Parts: sequence; structure tokens; C-alpha cells
Amino acid sequence: MIDLHVHSLFSDGELIPSELTRRAAVLGYRAMAITDHADASNIDFIIQRIAAVADELGSDWGLTVIPGIELTHVPPARIAGTARKARDLGARIVVCHGETLAEPVAPGTNRAAIEAGVDILSHPGLISADEAALAAERGVCLEITTRKGHSLTNGHVARMALEYGARMVVNTDSHAPGDLTDLETARKIALGAGLSEEQFEQCRRNSEELVRKAMK
Ligand SMILES: [Zn+2]
Ligand SMILES: [Zn+2]
Repeated sequence: MIDLHVHSLFSDGELIPSELTRRAAVLGYRAMAITDHADASNIDFIIQRIAAVADELGSDWGLTVIPGIELTHVPPARIAGTARKARDLGARIVVCHGETLAEPVAPGTNRAAIEAGVDILSHPGLISADEAALAAERGVCLEITTRKGHSLTNGHVARMALEYGARMVVNTDSHAPGDLTDLETARKIALGAGLSEEQFEQCRRNSEELVRKAMK
């Protein structure tokens, strides 16, 4: 299992990075990106704290731990600048919190994130055809999520991604220990979104590619 969207208590997750990554390793994770919620107020603090322990925890527990960030409710006009800042500060996976049906995310967030070239647009809700096509063109991965609420539009996201050639990844958006998901459960949720076995395998390869790029 590779999971590139997870929260620690540096935002609203329940666990410190040590326990989060330990539990992931026990579940058979090969790689995890810790991507706490950030805006301009906390982005420097969070990335620095996660980056300080990622390599050590990875080698101690036997998985790849990647310092990342999830730009969350950042006003669309500020997403590109904040994404750049995240990379400058050392975020190796930049996720943007997309237009989920579960929260009043500002319209225009999906498009701004894709134009900014984030790595993953998480739970993009009722993403439009134009946005899916742009994600394909820019190489931005669209997320299929195992998380309650956000997962309501998985079927739509999968359909748009497949129709317009955008890459997909499957993530958990874990906040609590019970949210971490083994590979078999992730597979079932992806199939439930309408993906074939081969399309799920392609999602896994896409995640692997992001890990490779992040660790270069
Ligand atoms: Zn959260
Ligand atoms: Zn999240």
C-alpha cells in the first residue's frame, strides 16, 4: 500500500508521526506521505517538523516516509503561490484539498490547483470535464479516496479521469488509526468507484511514480 494523503496531529489527525508511520508499517504500507492541512499561517511550521523526522522514521520502521502538505481552503488566487512556497520549504508531495461535496470548498479551487501543478488534487468532488482534461495535460493526479463523505463522488471522479486521460491515485486521507487501510480494502473501494483491476493497478503505478519523483 502506498498512501500519499494522511494527517498527523500537526493538523487535525490524532497521531504523532511516529505512531502514524509505525501503524502504517504494521499494516503493510510501503510508503506514506504525511500531508497535514496548511495555509499561509502554518505551512512553514508543519513541513519543517515532518521533514525533520521523515527519513529517520522511514528507516526505523521500514517504509518510505515523505514530508508533504495538503493546501486546505487556501483561496484559489493564492494556491499557486502557496504551492511554490510548500516546495521551497521542502514538501515533496503537494496535495490540494479539492472541491469535495462534504465541505464548502471555494469554487475555482480544483482549477487553481491543477494550474499550479500540484501533485495530487484530493477529493475533487464534481470535477468538470475541462478540469479533468487540464489535469491530464498537466500531469496532476486525481484522487480516489477511501474517506467517508469525500468518497461520495469517487465514481464521478473515476469516470472523468478515464474519459479525459487524467491519472488517478488511491489515498485514505486518514485522520485516526482506524482510517488507515490495507491494500485489499483500497482495491475494493477503487473497484466500487468503477475501476477495473487493471485500472487499479495503474493507480498503484501512479503512486509509485510519485514516490520515486518525491525521493529523487
Ligand atoms: Zn482533516
Ligand atoms: Zn486531507
